[in-house]
Amino acid sequence: MEEKVHECIVIGSGPAGYTAAIYAARADMKPIVYEGLQPGGQLTITTDVENYPGYPDGIMGPEMMNQFKKQATRLGADVRFGMVTDVQFSRNGGTHSLTIDNKQIILAHTVIISTGASAKWLGLESETRLNGSGVSACAVCDGFFYKGQDVAIVGGGDTAAEEASYLAKICNKVYMLVRKGELRASKAMQHRVKALENVEILYHTQTDEILGDKVVTGVRTLNNQTQEKKELNVQGFFVAIGHKPNTDIFKKYLEMDEQGYLITKPDSTHTNVPGVFVSGDAQDKIYRQAVTAAGTGCMAALDAERYLASKSM
Ligand code: NDP
Repeated sequence: MEEKVHECIVIGSGPAGYTAAIYAARADMKPIVYEGLQPGGQLTITTDVENYPGYPDGIMGPEMMNQFKKQATRLGADVRFGMVTDVQFSRNGGTHSLTIDNKQIILAHTVIISTGASAKWLGLESETRLNGSGVSACAVCDGFFYKGQDVAIVGGGDTAAEEASYLAKICNKVYMLVRKGELRASKAMQHRVKALENVEILYHTQTDEILGDKVVTGVRTLNNQTQEKKELNVQGFFVAIGHKPNTDIFKKYLEMDEQGYLITKPDSTHTNVPGVFVSGDAQDKIYRQAVTAAGTGCMAALDAERYLASKSM
């Protein structure tokens, strides 16, 4: 065990985590950032980011996250490859202890949680069995494998619409399986996806089963109005039905809502444990944007700095 008690540890390396690290580094808190399972966070599996201010021509998600990392590192953040696998928070403002990769223990006065959220799955046995063999939750990562083929994507939100548009550029045909009679996606995304000739939107349509023994060969759909079942021949099956916050390891200590989003004290990033702060998608089920995540990362570092200052008075 490392005896040193660090001033600030940031868990997660998306826009929230790196912004927290940038502010904490400039405040001389010598932050350590643990990158987690998906270094760079969700933006590393997206393509063009057009809505982050400061990039008038847009920027690719992975490139943007490289720049966040570069900026944090240049200002003195210690970015480490590793996963926080457990936490022991002090409930009375003492030292917090984090377990890294199930072995190393590291201590800190303040912790900023920026662990984000992960893709949700339908929960079908065939989905688990064929995961990686035709089933994917990331069109941008895996769409390439279905070049010129037919695919299906589940979901009617902005993610599904964005991914369907992306797949339409690569694949022969894209079926969008939407359980309601309408899309939930923003009007702009709806116009974009509806204008694509090789995207067919199937409303009131659920997934009954993903077909295939070793690889995906099709999907059996169920119309939830007529109860009619149909088989579509597809080689790829994408799931884009939302996300779950990555907060399971904090359950013992932190207040969260029924979906697992961490609860903060009003107008702040304070959790119910002194010295533990949260930013980004781990606490935000409403906005979930890179720019809002970055904003709350900044808030968390400022809150942590003030907390440290009040302790040393
Ligand atoms: P959303 O929660 O917005 O949408 C999820 C979609 O999946 C809904 O259509 C929902 O259907 C459907 N769904 C959920 N569970 C199931 C299920 N078990 N079976 C079938 N369908 C299901 O998630 P998104 O990931 O699309 O978006 C999350 C947030 O991120 C949103 O705020 C969105 O606006 C934002 N976003 C913004 C982007 C941008 O600005 N460029 C890009 C991507 C996302 P139903 O409507 O029936 O509930």
